[in-house]
Amino acid sequence: MKFICDLTVQKLGRLLILCGYDAKIIKTHKPIKELSEESAKENRILITRNTRVKNYDIEYVLLIEQKPYHQFKRLVKKLNLELNEEKFFTRCSVCNLELEKTNKSDVSEKIPELTKQNTEDFFVCPKCKKIYWKQSHYDMFREKIREIVS
Ligand SMILES: [Zn+2]
Repeated sequence: MKFICDLTVQKLGRLLILCGYDAKIIKTHKPIKELSEESAKENRILITRNTRVKNYDIEYVLLIEQKPYHQFKRLVKKLNLELNEEKFFTRCSVCNLELEKTNKSDVSEKIPELTKQNTEDFFVCPKCKKIYWKQSHYDMFREKIREIVS
């Protein structure tokens, strides 16, 4: 399941990416017609708060919630979305690309000393080269997600 999140649900898009979903976030204003065409072409479900989406014969989820976590909860219910914690933090939250495993020795100059001592697994975004590792915010995120969908 792949998504397009328009301007009205950007933060929801980030949550989806953090959960390992392929979610393209549209950061500029685009007419709903254009978004619907893009969704259909790329086989993505359009997520929006724009009620005009109803005029288009595409797969979409129309949300009324304003808060990202509320939107997330609704979406999970609506689509029966599977949340696999193994997939959490496997994509770059900026580029929406799958992270690649990297060697600790290759990134050692770019990570904090404490992290170097406590962490073995490092990942890098193939596009923006940002380095990722699972640290305390990973556990906090997982707890938060569990809480929301429970
Ligand atoms: Zn990136």
